[in-house]
Amino acid sequence: MFCSNCGEKLVGGAAFCSNCGTGIGNIGGGPAPAPPSSGGNSGLRAFGVISMIAGPAIAAIMGFNAYNDAYSRYAFIWGGRGAGRHAQAALEQMFPQLLMVAGLGIVIGIVFLIAAAKK
Ligand SMILES: [Zn+2]
Repeated sequence: MFCSNCGEKLVGGAAFCSNCGTGIGNIGGGPAPAPPSSGGNSGLRAFGVISMIAGPAIAAIMGFNAYNDAYSRYAFIWGGRGAGRHAQAALEQMFPQLLMVAGLGIVIGIVFLIAAAKK
């Protein structure tokens, strides 16, 4: 390593050039220090996005499971034909609940995105 100011060979670990006194930190123009990251801000935004995706995803999984549960339960008793109808009825019955789960995820996500935007 050489001094960027005078070209003097620098001793490893030296803080300044022994010839001209230039600080070693100034030599080579290394990568600029990263700007202070808005860690909290991006964390809020990430949580908001995850929440907006997770809400509907969880609702979809719940609905899928409920449909399959009802279907297999009724199929066991009455066979496949009636099971589809019963499973659909079971799904419709829990639809408000699914809507609430999906909506809650989206609302929480929006709240966090707004909070992230305000920072
Ligand atoms: Zn120097």
